[in-house]
Amino acid sequence: MDEQIVIVGGGLAGGSAATELRKEGFAGRVVLLAGEDELPYIRPPLSKEYLAGTAERSSALVHPAEWYAEHDVELRLGAWVDSLDLPAHAVVLADGERIGYSKLLLATGSSPRHLRGSAFPHARGVHHLHTIADAEALRADLAGGGRDVVVVGAGWIGLEVAAAARAYGNEVAILGRDDVPLESALGVELGAYFGEMHERHGVEVRTNSLVESYEELDGQVTGVTLAIGTVVPADVVVVGVGAVPNAELALVADLPVADGVVTDASLHVGQDVYAAGDVASAFHPVLGRHLRVEHWANAQRQGRAAARSMLGMDVSYDRVPYFYTDQYELGMEFCGYSDLLGDARLVYRGSRGEPGSGEFLAFWVIGSDAPARVVAGMNINVWDVNDRIEALVASGRRVDVGRLADPRVDLAAV
Ligand SMILES: Cc1cc2nc3c(=O)[nH]c(=O)nc-3n(C[C@H](O)[C@H](O)[C@H](O)COP(=O)(O)OP(=O)(O)OC[C@H]3O[C@@H](n4cnc5c(N)ncnc54)[C@H](O)[C@@H]3O)c2cc1C
Repeated sequence: MDEQIVIVGGGLAGGSAATELRKEGFAGRVVLLAGEDELPYIRPPLSKEYLAGTAERSSALVHPAEWYAEHDVELRLGAWVDSLDLPAHAVVLADGERIGYSKLLLATGSSPRHLRGSAFPHARGVHHLHTIADAEALRADLAGGGRDVVVVGAGWIGLEVAAAARAYGNEVAILGRDDVPLESALGVELGAYFGEMHERHGVEVRTNSLVESYEELDGQVTGVTLAIGTVVPADVVVVGVGAVPNAELALVADLPVADGVVTDASLHVGQDVYAAGDVASAFHPVLGRHLRVEHWANAQRQGRAAARSMLGMDVSYDRVPYFYTDQYELGMEFCGYSDLLGDARLVYRGSRGEPGSGEFLAFWVIGSDAPARVVAGMNINVWDVNDRIEALVASGRRVDVGRLADPRVDLAAV
């Protein structure tokens, strides 16, 4: 067969891979199978500016519609892949059509986790946020304001939705199961910082709140019942309790799956199959173990890297995970290894470096004595610094903690 690359999944990872294939001069056939009936798009605006009604639909697109034909990428919208036939090097679509490949990229992303069981009936007003259609349905429920909105889950998406819901003039309660919001992402101290910010904006932040059921009347949600018996009234419920990798295709085809599709550092799974983005659990050569990252930058970078890998180029994907959020007046970038934060301590940088000041850098360092290793860093309302933070984390070098905290010392020289 002539060289023919098939990409399953028209999200950012799939779209970035197609872009990179052409950029690198690949002249064979490229087929991009997008299960959704939408041009490939990015998801961060769905819980921020698109939900808030301040951005156009087109601003979320990976490329405008004409790009695909101009670059000879066969984009098939609404094309759902049902199974893989690895020995025949073919994918099988839901309607039975088979498409052969010489290399295959799985970029199937992740899906929001649902609260399941009879205690959580389907009811009007209950939302999950993953697709552009989800965002439009939620926006329609929020935009009029004056409603009781309950956000289940105090992670990134939950907090961003809470901010958008407040901006429309709704009453908002966040229900989180830990002591503070974002505890597993940032730890107690900075999680509390985000929680207090939401309270200042009039959100009721209820921590240690386990959700037991939804209340509904005539098919419309009316509240959320907590394990302690309290009913929190709700016209609208937004469930943001994490995501699960869409790894079924690989699982059924007997490819390695363990919290995502397992790849080596070149994003190769085996048998000419590659994986990138939310679905990939890729061996990280710096960490020395597998890592699955559910962030925008990872989808873009891994999509590109997988494309180069499929073209036979030498690839060892070792980028430091990166994430950003916008909530109210706060803009934040985070770069680092989240699962190492538990063993780390926080170091703030600069005289304005205390939480509450609104503009600061924070670093997570491991090692009680100077020098220590920086495993993550974040900038809040301070810009053009994240590249230097990434370089610091990626280098793995030991730094002097006193110099790290001193804004007069260049980050490259701490
Ligand atoms: C509301 C929201 C807000 C976010 N905000 C941020 C943020 O602020 N910062 C950040 O860093 N990250 C953010 N993220 C995470 C980020 O969007 C994801 O990491 C990124 O979308 C992953 O891209 P992906 O291409 O791997 O997967 P996805 O975007 O999930 O795309 C995968 C696509 O594959 C399709 N697909 C799946 N199975 C099949 C199949 N069998 N056949 C055909 N198609 C299939 C799916 O329908 C989907 O369209 C956010 C995510 C959401 C949902």
